[in-house]
Amino acid sequence: MKERSNNPTTAILTVNRGENVVEHLTQYAEHNDIHAAWIQGIGAVDHIVMSYYDLSKKEYIKITIDEECELLSLQGNIALLDNKPVIHAHITVGKSDYSVIGGHLHEMRISGAGEFFLSFIDTKLERKHDEETGLNLLKIH
Ligand code: ZN
Repeated sequence: MKERSNNPTTAILTVNRGENVVEHLTQYAEHNDIHAAWIQGIGAVDHIVMSYYDLSKKEYIKITIDEECELLSLQGNIALLDNKPVIHAHITVGKSDYSVIGGHLHEMRISGAGEFFLSFIDTKLERKHDEETGLNLLKIH
């Protein structure tokens, strides 16, 4: 992973072929003490674990995709859960037949480009477990 930031509010990260996106973004947030950020990204990937959240069961229904896909869009954020930065991101990926699928991101490996843009937010964003939904929701005070 490489990074460049020309000002204190943004950064551009490239994640290399073979590297796991969630792992690298989380490490970046930990090493740079980031408490709040918005993330956007595009690239090419060949291993994805994503899910649909079944609210009635309060569980993530995961699927694994092991094929070359275009990462059309990643949108997400960094916030603190139990004082550790966590990535919450959703992705849309395009397959070789041009069909598009998407979901909540758990794991993703870069196969070609991995280009990410972070906007840092000057606050402390925190997540708290919500009993009603079973999710760790953002708490804005
Ligand atoms: Zn989600």
